[in-house]
Amino acid sequence: MNIFVNKNITIFGLGKSGLAAAKRLVSVGAKVFATDAKPAEKFDVGTIEELRSLGVKIELGCHSFKTLDGTDLIVVSPGIHLDIPVLIEAQKRNIPIISEIELAYQFLTKPIIAVTGTNGKTTTTTLIGEFLKAAGKKIAVGGNIGKPLIAIDDTDLDYIVAEISSYQLETIKDFKPWISLILNIQPDHLERHGSMSEYIKQKARIFLNQTGDDYLIYNLDDPQVVEMVKSAKSQQIPFSKSQAVIITLRPEEIKIPGKHNLDNALAAAQAAYLCGVERQTVAEVLKSFPGVEHRIEFTANINGIEFYNDSKATNPDSTLVALDTFPGQGIILILGGKDKGTELTTLAEAVKDKVKFVILIGEATERFKQALEKTGFKNIKLADSLPQAVQTSFNLGQPGDVILLSPACASFDMFANYEERGRVFKKEVEKLIIKLYICENQK
Ligand code: ADP
Repeated sequence: MNIFVNKNITIFGLGKSGLAAAKRLVSVGAKVFATDAKPAEKFDVGTIEELRSLGVKIELGCHSFKTLDGTDLIVVSPGIHLDIPVLIEAQKRNIPIISEIELAYQFLTKPIIAVTGTNGKTTTTTLIGEFLKAAGKKIAVGGNIGKPLIAIDDTDLDYIVAEISSYQLETIKDFKPWISLILNIQPDHLERHGSMSEYIKQKARIFLNQTGDDYLIYNLDDPQVVEMVKSAKSQQIPFSKSQAVIITLRPEEIKIPGKHNLDNALAAAQAAYLCGVERQTVAEVLKSFPGVEHRIEFTANINGIEFYNDSKATNPDSTLVALDTFPGQGIILILGGKDKGTELTTLAEAVKDKVKFVILIGEATERFKQALEKTGFKNIKLADSLPQAVQTSFNLGQPGDVILLSPACASFDMFANYEERGRVFKKEVEKLIIKLYICENQK
């Protein structure tokens, strides 16, 4: 009999993973109470009706202390902070609090490959999935991408490949991947974790429960990661592009561009080898894997000018990575969007060294313009919209140049999210292609 039968379980957060958790728990006989602070009118009625019909009690618009009464266990979604009053009260009452991945772990029976790090998680997780699929393994890719882990039924699977954020690791208990990967640690999400040492501590929890039968793949070039893995009990497998510790891949045979993607490819390949994937299969996948949408995604080559969509670059660090990806090529950079108030000096210096023209868009225009002008960089154009920016950059482009959307800003001033921004960019590039074929006398 499973451990959740007749248990009273409160789920905090009714997003994708909270919903999936509620349904799974009901299916095994738990009594579920779901609470979400988002106003009731923002919820889809169909979803609420479905939960009601399953017998789930629901509270929307706040998290009241009532949700704690009689509760045996609390499951928190990744977006929920543990220091909100109701969860502080829960800790006082000694009610166990676990994350959705911990809950999922209680159901999963197959080996888990878990990827964490500040950057590169989605690319590496996706790549591991591709290697395993190419080798004929039955897998599911989930966690932060794809399905929430709690929605995965692994009865017929060989492996589960999971992208894991530091938030989710905060409240694990038994969660134990067979293979953990730590890609890198950079300052990020400090507003949530308070300090860098706290952030590192959370990320290190990925190997907390690992034993000598498990593996830890880690980045030997990242001093913070090297320090952090010292306490791991699992078998350690380093990867490094600079020290060539394991020379298994030829960089020129990897389709996804940039040095950072070499890291991602090396890490993912190590995981695949542990699962018995042949080197030949890994090499073939790397020759054709186009990368994940919106991450330095090759879009088109028009008259010798290459277009790349890096809409996922929502902070200056990501844009710096993109600028390093095209050595020797002239870059025309579309920059700007919703300003996050981030420090711009390093980015402005890199732009000065590596970029031919910058086209600025969105709310951040003025601050970015000032930061760039401070370095003496003058080739700045302003555009009212992304479509206009694409046209302006094309007008400036020469064969051999790269037109790069890598905004270093959030998208919410002009778009619903970074995905929509990336799609608009690609649509505009398509329009430029179509225009090439318009009959002369109609232009
Ligand atoms: P995540 O899921 O961790 O956000 P992604 O694979 O979605 O990572 O990549 C997001 C952005 O992070 C990319 O556009 C790129 O700029 C940067 N990036 C990707 N991989 C790495 C890496 N290994 N090191 C540093 N930056 C990276």
